[in-house]
Amino acid sequence: MATIELKNLKKHFGNVKAVDDVSLKINDGEFVVFLGPSGCGKTTTLLMLAGIYKPTGGEILFDNQVVNEVPPKDREIGMVFQSYALYPHMTLYENIAFPLQAKKMDKNEIDKKVKDVTKNLDIGKLLDRKPNQISGGQQQRVAIARALVKKPKILLFDEPLSNLDAALRAYMRAEIKKLQHDLGITSVYVTHDQIEAMTMADRIAVFNKGKLMQFDIPDKIYNQPKNIFVARFVGTPSMNIIDVEIIKLGEDVYIKIEDDIKIKIVNKEIKEKINKISEKNVLMGLRPEDIKIRFKKEEGNSFKSKVYILEPLGREIIYNIKLGNNIFKIISDEKYELKIDDDIYLKFPDTNFHLFDKNTGENLL
Ligand code: ATP
Repeated sequence: MATIELKNLKKHFGNVKAVDDVSLKINDGEFVVFLGPSGCGKTTTLLMLAGIYKPTGGEILFDNQVVNEVPPKDREIGMVFQSYALYPHMTLYENIAFPLQAKKMDKNEIDKKVKDVTKNLDIGKLLDRKPNQISGGQQQRVAIARALVKKPKILLFDEPLSNLDAALRAYMRAEIKKLQHDLGITSVYVTHDQIEAMTMADRIAVFNKGKLMQFDIPDKIYNQPKNIFVARFVGTPSMNIIDVEIIKLGEDVYIKIEDDIKIKIVNKEIKEKINKISEKNVLMGLRPEDIKIRFKKEEGNSFKSKVYILEPLGREIIYNIKLGNNIFKIISDEKYELKIDDDIYLKFPDTNFHLFDKNTGENLL
């Protein structure tokens, strides 16, 4: 069991700041996902944890001990890669036993450990096959077994599901989460897939351009994004973001979308927060489920709109609704019989919205 701490961690490749001053602390037994777009520095951070890359600056601590100088083989980590990295000429048994043979462990002991680890992963009956004689999902489980057989203190996953088809990916997502939960091994999992991050993680670290944007539980990442990058990166369909103007008129506060579309702020706490914002022009963010479809004008902030297009997804429909010059993506628990160009009303929420600084992207509420 182990805790992990990154203190002002940096990795530069020439002029490229691949990892730029990242600090975070991972608890014992926690499942943390590093999430971000391609090139954001998540893999580089993982490879520093593995000891494959040496940091340009800062410290990595396992169980409060600095490990910067500890070579990979002595870090007690297990690693699972996207490409599985199985040896094609060896049987599955030999693949899994390999790290133990490398340690010159007794044959009977190796046999017991291989049998133990494969039992839970449902590959016990396949052990005399070669990697090309089993499916992608099974190969991935062999790779996990090989990472687990040494009883590592820390598990590192580098996009382990990205070579699998969608159905198998969804299946393995739950399998890996259950396995990690049962074993309780501190784990770091790198992905660019926000659904993997949201469904699997105890906490998510969102990266962008080498910097840590937010480190929080999935619910907070979704509902309280610290900045517009996190807000946009997480959620499908993604958050509606529009240009707005804050108008303060005596006691009243409005968010102006267009001249004749002004949202009156009624919630006292939000009004107070907006009163402290000095910028006039900001960005407003609204999740697709927080704007409601109505068939007549209601009290409060409802505005006449038109159906632009519908995107049915089977279980739900993404309603694209035009209000003034903006098109909002809306999802709802209710299914509405709507056609293109139907006149409807959009009702805006009193509290469930965000305002972001246009320059810094910071969440202002
Ligand atoms: P991906 O999902 O595409 O792997 P990532 O978020 O894991 O992306 P990294 O692989 O960590 O990103 O890369 C971060 C930045 O560092 C990128 O700009 C990348 O081009 C650069 N980089 C990574 N490894 C090296 C290297 N060995 N030499 C030079 N630059 C590198």
